[in-house]
Amino acid sequence: MSIRTEIERLREELPEGVRLLAVSKFHPVEALSEAYDAGQRAFGESRPQELRLKAEILPRDIEWHMIGHLQTNKVKYIVPFVTLIESLDSERLAQEINRQAERCGRVIDCLLEIHITDEESKSGWAYDELMSFVSGGGFQAYPNIRVRGVMGMATFTDDEAVVRRDFKRLAECKAELSEYFGEEFDTLSMGMSDDYRIALEYGTTEVRIGSTIFGAREY
Ligand SMILES: *Cc1c(COP(=O)(O)O)cnc(C)c1O
Repeated sequence: MSIRTEIERLREELPEGVRLLAVSKFHPVEALSEAYDAGQRAFGESRPQELRLKAEILPRDIEWHMIGHLQTNKVKYIVPFVTLIESLDSERLAQEINRQAERCGRVIDCLLEIHITDEESKSGWAYDELMSFVSGGGFQAYPNIRVRGVMGMATFTDDEAVVRRDFKRLAECKAELSEYFGEEFDTLSMGMSDDYRIALEYGTTEVRIGSTIFGAREY
């Protein structure tokens, strides 16, 4: 199936109010252009330099989302271009995003990435630590960050019950945290190619879909 066909199919399938993020990491600009021509405007990248390079080449009305683990020394590459940083996962990173955003005269939208699985490898905030940071007013020190919601990944497994548990948990985290933020805390980013249909059942507001649209990635 072509990129256009997949995007059109997904757009038809997703309910009103659920954003489709086309995860274009590792794919060439030609593939992104094809998606753009099919009307896609929100793209997700996982490497700062790659995001920057693509943003410089492709049309200006694209929304760029940073979804990969972000090192503090790379924040400066994306701050002028990024629409939403979905992988804010530490206080140190918040501090650096705030610093670079201030230098650029921007307020940057971010999602709090939460580690909800039992897996070791994935990045994200431990929920308890995040909660104590947020409830202690931690973000008040960072006026150039606007926290828009949470992002997370389910366990990599064929066991649907585990995936459901993870999405339910993430939705609960978002609900609990919302008490500390305003109305703009409206985003629940969860669901990828293999599990987005389950995420829809738990109230996701953004699905991040790569391989279904663009095919397999070549690393
Ligand atoms: C790569 C990636 C995706 C997309 O994964 P697919 O399985 O290709 O849809 C979604 N979210 C994050 C955080 C990713 O790193």
